[in-house]
Amino acid sequence: MAKYVGAHVSSSGGVENAPENARAIGAKAFALFTRNQRQWTPPPLKQESIDLFKARIAEFGYAPAHILPHDSYLINMGNPDPDAREKSFMAFLDEMQRCEQLGLTLLNFHPGSHLKQISDEECLNLIADGINRALNETSGVTAVIENTAGQGSNLGYKFEHLAYLIDKVEDKSRIGVCIDTAHTLAAGYDIRTEPAYRQTWAEFDRIVGYKYLRGIHLNDSKKELSSRVDRHDSVGKGVMGMELFSLIMNDPHLDDIPIILETPDESLWAEEIALLYALQK
Ligand SMILES: [Zn+2]
Ligand SMILES: [Zn+2]
Repeated sequence: MAKYVGAHVSSSGGVENAPENARAIGAKAFALFTRNQRQWTPPPLKQESIDLFKARIAEFGYAPAHILPHDSYLINMGNPDPDAREKSFMAFLDEMQRCEQLGLTLLNFHPGSHLKQISDEECLNLIADGINRALNETSGVTAVIENTAGQGSNLGYKFEHLAYLIDKVEDKSRIGVCIDTAHTLAAGYDIRTEPAYRQTWAEFDRIVGYKYLRGIHLNDSKKELSSRVDRHDSVGKGVMGMELFSLIMNDPHLDDIPIILETPDESLWAEEIALLYALQK
């Protein structure tokens, strides 16, 4: 089985609950929050939670490369305000350190927002500084930049933004990207037919490169091409069409990386995962 499909499962009650939540829906990969994503300074992980998490992923057969933690939505390492930016950096560093503690190797994050106060380039430079600092202070964890829908003043919606950040990161062995299908469509890259899918990925490979691809967020979208609005939908219920899902499940470039559903109805995840595997030819 070369495809590792799962969902962003709940870690409510403790990170140690996430592996069981993933197993219960037949997931072969999963995403999670390692801290309360609405708090700036949540309590540290308990040693008992760390030990249980490690024991359970080993027992259930989840490799760290197929587990894609997502950072807090509060974090904006490109914040033009120095105090707010430092607060974000400290939270990002804490997220990276939690991954280290859990034996995880990836941390997925949204690059940041210029808040209409500085240029795209200035904002990307601030984000790259934050990534470099966090990589210097940790080891073994890759910072995985997610492409965005480009809503509001969020950067990361162009492949060029991802490439710019990678270029500025000193340790290229610990930087990667995650492509979210709903964000990709909203940002203006069509992926819904085979020719469009091939063209968009060729552009990705030319500008960013498959060698940096560490994960996929597989979502249908409520919003149309180029809407710049981030609204996920369940598989087959949005504007994407089923061809995309079949193309994803049969694309050898996406072997051996986590393919994560962030679809809105969690009661459908088991069904969606089974449906996706059934699309494999
Ligand atoms: Zn995300
Ligand atoms: Zn996503």
